[in-house]
Amino acid sequence: MVCVAVGYLMIYLINLICVQSEPCVAFLRLQAKQLELPIQVYYPANEQNPLVVLTWQGLQPELPSVLLNSHMDVVPVFPENWTHPPFGAEIDQEGRIFARGAQDMKCVGMQYLAAIRALKRSGATFKRTIHISFVADEEMGGRLAMLPFVDSKEFRALNVGFGLDEGIASATSEIPVFYAERTVRRVIFQISGTAGHGSLLLPNTAGEKLSYILERMMAFRKVQFQRLASSPELSIGDVTTINLTQVQGGVQGNVVPPLMTAFFDCRLALDIKIPEFDANLHKWAAEAGGGIELEYEQKRGHIPPTATDDTNPFWVAFKDATDELGLKIKLQVFPGGTDSRYLRQVGIPALGFSPMNHTPVLLHDHDEFLHAETYLKGVQIYQKIISNVACV
Ligand SMILES: [Zn+2]
Repeated sequence: MVCVAVGYLMIYLINLICVQSEPCVAFLRLQAKQLELPIQVYYPANEQNPLVVLTWQGLQPELPSVLLNSHMDVVPVFPENWTHPPFGAEIDQEGRIFARGAQDMKCVGMQYLAAIRALKRSGATFKRTIHISFVADEEMGGRLAMLPFVDSKEFRALNVGFGLDEGIASATSEIPVFYAERTVRRVIFQISGTAGHGSLLLPNTAGEKLSYILERMMAFRKVQFQRLASSPELSIGDVTTINLTQVQGGVQGNVVPPLMTAFFDCRLALDIKIPEFDANLHKWAAEAGGGIELEYEQKRGHIPPTATDDTNPFWVAFKDATDELGLKIKLQVFPGGTDSRYLRQVGIPALGFSPMNHTPVLLHDHDEFLHAETYLKGVQIYQKIISNVACV
């Protein structure tokens, strides 16, 4: 019966979300009405990308508030690779709910609401105001929702002091807690060189220069690859990743081209000195023979990690809750990007946490699923965490 209720909820939400954002907002309005909580809908960039905030006012509303954030968008699906309809939220005999967003992160958004519902029913009250936000555009980088929102007067009016956002599932008993993200560098080398006939041995060709850049970037990559391979205590978020993602250039097989471009996706770990890394890129471009321009598709500055010691009372309250629940948590640096970074960027401590242990990591994958029991256990976990962090 419980599983049916969970499935119904997820079917409802996921179906609505995947069609368009408007029915999702309508669904959240209904939730707000049932919970007797005020709701605000913002459009930080345009009308296609709403940002919904439900608010449970605290006993001391002047105190910085707690933000429970989740995103309402999902990544595309390839239905032919699924064993269940990706937007059906079907539950199999083992209790697994199959749906796009079951792990990323419609589960968490619904767990927040279920936890708030249970807490309200129990008569609980808290010192701090709690905002529950559902945002668009996270999967595309948040430039149409969270990024502009954190710079708005509407966001400042929420007076957020601490945020919770998504984590990742874990196949073991441990649940990762993310306190930082790596710094994104998407760099394009525009490599000019001597053009001419493919039968000659011309000096300073774009191909030769590309070869030098590749050699340097791949040598850097190899060191990181070996570090990760030989250090079981490290996760992917602890090392710097460099990947060649696009190479372009050339007109036909017998013409040495005047221009070639190479695109690298780099994620800089916390141990990297960013100005030094940037200076190296320029140094290698010069060493390659010059005539190379660097362009950046993304060039973010360092975002300070969230403190995970007793200088951060929200961390202490969060950790106390997980200890009391007997959960094994592991602090990690998030390997990709989430909306948490925009909170940290404006100085708000934020943790990424999705209570999904003993669960294969299937975000963005075919047959994404979450076990109904894990989902329901997560609701209880959030009740404890919310109670703790809202009473700091
Ligand atoms: Zn996500």
